[in-house]
Amino acid sequence: MDIYFYNTLTKQKELFKSIKEKEATIYSCGPTVYKDATIGNMRTYLLNDTLRRILKYNGYHLKHVMNITDVGHLVSDGDEGEDKMIKSAREEHKSPLEIANYYTNLFLRDLERLNIETPEVICRATDHIKEMLEMVKKIMENGYAYETSTAIYFDVSKLDKYGILSGIDLNNQKAGARVEVDPEKRNPYDFALWIKAPENHLMKWDSPWGPSYPGWHIECSAMSTKYLGEEFDIHTGGIDLVPTHHENEIAQNKGACGKIPAHYWIHGEYLLVDGGKMSKSLGNVYLVDDIIAKGYSPLAYRFFNFSCHYRGKLNFTWEGIESASASLDRLREGFQNHLKGTEDVSDVIINDLEGRFHKAINDDMNMPLALSIVWEAVRYKTKSKKIADLLKKFDTVLGIKIDETELKEEIPQEILDLAEKRKEARNNKNWSESDKLRDMIFKKGYIVKDTKEGTEIVKK
Ligand code: AMP
Ligand code: ZN
Repeated sequence: MDIYFYNTLTKQKELFKSIKEKEATIYSCGPTVYKDATIGNMRTYLLNDTLRRILKYNGYHLKHVMNITDVGHLVSDGDEGEDKMIKSAREEHKSPLEIANYYTNLFLRDLERLNIETPEVICRATDHIKEMLEMVKKIMENGYAYETSTAIYFDVSKLDKYGILSGIDLNNQKAGARVEVDPEKRNPYDFALWIKAPENHLMKWDSPWGPSYPGWHIECSAMSTKYLGEEFDIHTGGIDLVPTHHENEIAQNKGACGKIPAHYWIHGEYLLVDGGKMSKSLGNVYLVDDIIAKGYSPLAYRFFNFSCHYRGKLNFTWEGIESASASLDRLREGFQNHLKGTEDVSDVIINDLEGRFHKAINDDMNMPLALSIVWEAVRYKTKSKKIADLLKKFDTVLGIKIDETELKEEIPQEILDLAEKRKEARNNKNWSESDKLRDMIFKKGYIVKDTKEGTEIVKK
């Protein structure tokens, strides 16, 4: 069956044709490992995972590469400010490498918790300094870059067109409209490929331009070329990457080899919280840990993501998670009813459900529509193993572990006692004591969940 994706490059839904038959090559921009990944970041990685699973459902073999940014991403997302890794290392009194290892491990743990498949290749920027330097040299040799006293800049005016992804019109841009103007920059949109390191800079490497370090964008051009070649099928990332990071990646690849690296550019919209941007100042930056601490399974968050198309903004609320969690329980219960079913369902019904599900996922990953067909199957009045098998097949795309039944483990007496003390504290409106007890219970591996029906204790 044909697959269609919305391509940011052409701004339309297009028929997917891979370079090699039945093989899909994908590059995804990975995390900058200087802090915990938020559930917003995770929305983008869930999109990557859905893409993977849909391609596999259609019989494709995958070569999926994801980078880990551990150098070069500056606080401004542009060419100003400190490197995010160095800032975090200073604040946490650790080395940049320790910071990178620590947050990379947490990120990989979150992928696992959300049942996100691991890409075939995960590559760190700092392991590819040689490849990046070679690419910068090539861009220089081809006449697309110039040296200043502080950096090697890409000269965007040398391209036939800069801005093909985001649609920026350079003629309408005032100098300094976007970034502070470096007097040595030839054009305001020129960006740093390589940056000369000030003395005492923590992360630097030898280069033809002295001790220096890479700009943020060059790592993705260099690593995608190394692992997937000059041209590959799909490039993914969050929508915020379109006007800077991805536009600049295209510029770099064109400067190095004259080609736009990916044929299809897929971008996921943002996760909002309470209708706005997640921000530290509003105290609404949530992690997968927070979902767990509130007593929800990370898979409830995964399921919640299917309520919205990836190109639409998704608003996170705790009510939304509560409702997704309850729906997930109902879905699994419905699956079990079919699994125990002894009746027969005609192949016509099965094929119709499968065909419509398949069409929905192939239509630019329309998960809300696909989910409505999953519900139709779950609610189908005749209870049959055939439907259970079909739901298992659907779950290769959903990844919600539809066949999981919650094992109610025995809660140790020590935890029950702590929960009882917490109940007393709550009855006495001693909220600080009750919070303290909840934290103690959490540290011992259990979560207390206050529901309408009373208190529930679950294992983390
Ligand atoms: P970073 O670690 O900041 O480099 O971001 C990693 C990925 O998460 C990028 O692809 C971003 O576009 C994406 N991202 C950041 N915030 C959000 C959000 N609120 N919703 C969805 N994706 C996001
Ligand atoms: Zn990237």
